[in-house]
Amino acid sequence: MANTILVIAEQRENKLVRVSFETIAAAQQIAKHTGAAVEVAVLGSSAQTIAQELAAKAVAKVYALESPQLEMYSSDAYVAVLTDFIKQHQPELVLLPHTYQVRDFAPSLALKLNTTAIPDCTGYKYENGKLLFTRQMFQGKFSADVSFTGAAPHIATLQNGSFRADQAAQAETGQAPVEVVAVTVPEGTVRVTAHEMFKEAKGAVDLTQAEIIVAIGRGIKEQKNIAMAEALAAALGAEVAGSRPVCDAGWLPIERQIGSSGQTVSPKLYVALGISGAIQHLVGMKGSKAILAINKDAEAPIFEIADYGVVGNIFEVMPALTEAIKQAKGA
Ligand code: FAD
Repeated sequence: MANTILVIAEQRENKLVRVSFETIAAAQQIAKHTGAAVEVAVLGSSAQTIAQELAAKAVAKVYALESPQLEMYSSDAYVAVLTDFIKQHQPELVLLPHTYQVRDFAPSLALKLNTTAIPDCTGYKYENGKLLFTRQMFQGKFSADVSFTGAAPHIATLQNGSFRADQAAQAETGQAPVEVVAVTVPEGTVRVTAHEMFKEAKGAVDLTQAEIIVAIGRGIKEQKNIAMAEALAAALGAEVAGSRPVCDAGWLPIERQIGSSGQTVSPKLYVALGISGAIQHLVGMKGSKAILAINKDAEAPIFEIADYGVVGNIFEVMPALTEAIKQAKGA
């Protein structure tokens, strides 16, 4: 068994999915404790180009697992290619981002490797020479530290926003070596036919990439009031998001919902307007670097995790804040 952490980076339509850098950051941090070498693998029909981007990070090696058969994603092909690769390279730990794609193939990969996978981890601990991963349980009410049983290689997937992509260390000099591995998917392996890639709703945003988010809760009262929050968001250069009731009401599109049944985000600033701070909402945003909560109820649970709090009426605070920001920017 090699003392290696293998990160499986994700690409979609030959573009690297940014959350892969969060996984690299996690691997680099864990490696500081275990002394492991961090390697990265990416699969695709032209994985080589993406591999170059990954090689700019402080990693020991990047593998581009290439085959025209990997042009369209299929769990069967990914499992077949990765099973062979992991058996050959014997990394101690395999880390993946907990994306929809990974949720699709990781359990099957663990089964094929006859190993343990810990999914959707939010952190890790290194205690007495043992690596533990933290997972949320019961909709985020509790956290549990979980360890692997059985022999390595072990697999863990990491929740979006649990590690910071901008903390993925760059290579100090030059690029990490890239090895292109031509792989073949044996005939009959893939049992599904991929059709055209599903395109998300027109104008859909990727909130996981937003630096500032202005989120609206039921305190906004009516759809027409959202314009006030949008004005604040525009002044801040922020994306607008919402709690579940706001999205359920159709006031904001569902892809802008934050929480356990929506997106998990970790922007530099999260402004929560009239959001009470139910646990299902908190799990989606508590990784934000700074949280500003504005709520008229001083006892609202959102204040327990807020870095800055304003006890007040959002209909007074929103326009005042928008105006102050505009003035500060000299607009
Ligand atoms: P409320 O809890 O009604 O809070 C409104 C807040 O606005 C209150 O704190 C109030 O004091 C404040 N307020 C009112 N008027 C003003 C004003 N004028 N000025 C300032 N403050 C004001 N929720 C999510 O958000 N995301 C999810 O993904 C999600 N998934 C769920 C999954 C399951 C299985 C379940 C059971 C629930 C889920 N929920 C989710 C719902 C969650 O439990 C809460 O009901 C929801 O988050 C509450 O939204 P809210 O904070 O906007 O509304």
